[in-house]
Amino acid sequence: MDAKTLIKRVEEDRAKFVSLQFTDVFGTVKSVDLPVSKLPEALDQGIMFDGSSVEGFARIQESDMHLRPDLDTYTVLPWTPEDMRRSRIICDVELPDGRPYPGDPRGVLKRVCNELAQKGMIYNVGPEPEFFLFRGNGGGTHPVPFDTGRYFDFSSDDTAVRIRTKLILALNEMGLDVEVGHHEVALGQHEIDFRFADAVKTADNILMMKFTVKAIAAQEGIIASFMPKPVFGENGSGMHCHQSIFTKDGKNLFYDGTKEMNFSDFARHFIAGQLKHAKGLTGMVAPCVNSYKRLVPGYEAPVYIGWAQTNRSALIRIPSAGNNPNAVRAELRCPDPSCNPYLALAAMLVCGMEGVEQNLEPMEPMNNVNVFELTRRQRREMGIEELPGSLKEALLAMENDPLFENLLGKDLFDSYTRGKWSDWDEFRTSVSDWEIDRYLLTI
Ligand code: GLU
Ligand code: MG
Ligand code: MG
Repeated sequence: MDAKTLIKRVEEDRAKFVSLQFTDVFGTVKSVDLPVSKLPEALDQGIMFDGSSVEGFARIQESDMHLRPDLDTYTVLPWTPEDMRRSRIICDVELPDGRPYPGDPRGVLKRVCNELAQKGMIYNVGPEPEFFLFRGNGGGTHPVPFDTGRYFDFSSDDTAVRIRTKLILALNEMGLDVEVGHHEVALGQHEIDFRFADAVKTADNILMMKFTVKAIAAQEGIIASFMPKPVFGENGSGMHCHQSIFTKDGKNLFYDGTKEMNFSDFARHFIAGQLKHAKGLTGMVAPCVNSYKRLVPGYEAPVYIGWAQTNRSALIRIPSAGNNPNAVRAELRCPDPSCNPYLALAAMLVCGMEGVEQNLEPMEPMNNVNVFELTRRQRREMGIEELPGSLKEALLAMENDPLFENLLGKDLFDSYTRGKWSDWDEFRTSVSDWEIDRYLLTI
């Protein structure tokens, strides 16, 4: 879309404001709001802003940043009232001289996708974000599930279904191609899957979906949360990612009709790369203290580093693709919706492509093993390793694997890990309800 067409679109949509969005290092959406009258000038010249207070952005002495709107991302935010109609455009962050700002997470993903495009390939990702709808709890934040549904429950008339329908309609209106929406396993838990797209578009879509779900739920007086494990003893919320690599002319490089599961050598090397770097990768795709309360046995979330065709306990699953070559893909199951999707997808891609470039081979698939039934010793003897058990382990793995600092560059890597270590230290030094219950009366 060019600037002229965009200005016309904005008029037709009767938008009063345009939010120019970008994200910080943790994936928090930031926004500068423009009255539409200022849009032509902004499109012509871009917008300068002081990035020094944005997490992971510039040091004070070089704080001037420039937002360059990516016009194809324009969309109206359909839940905003007519008289205050807003739209949004995602922006790339540049240095004052027009070079891409290396601390911009979207820029990191664009860079690695462009490198892949130069080799004639496109990284496609289809995400499955899960989330909870909670009732407000008298002003408290302790979660009370909003509904009484369970996995795939059909209910002809309940508020959660009505809200999910509203969400799907809004997301479709915003250009996101929703494939399915359904109730998930836990009380109050839902999932909305949308069609795969190239990684940059998918990452844009993930963030759009998160704020749309939250905004529409809030209008209904409901709290929507993408926290990975909000309720002890229930399934957590993951964001499995279905991945494949296509050639520019639309051929799926993960497909080979002569191979088992139609899974090509290219695809096998790709997942071998992700399996090799799985521990550090988890620090990028499951980046919260709370993410590691989800990655535990018994709740359909992965715990062990392995791959399989059907086994849902595996970290990477190869779903059945019927006889559709384009549907052959690898599902990575450790990501959760608390990640910064730009950095998460960038890391997934470079791990996988290292496997392709070095012809790495994965371990034997876990097809006929129920890893959860093995003892620790048996697992050790079979060489089955575990994902990090805590944010601390994941951060140590990231720091011990140069791939991640190479990907992010020193400054972004430092601000990412600094922020995450600070969360970890706060968590580890705080005193939890569990400790009070366990020790106060017994010691
Ligand atoms: N909620 C599960 C998880 O945390 C996934 C359930 C499913 O397979 O969709 O990964
Ligand atoms: Mg699910
Ligand atoms: Mg899945």
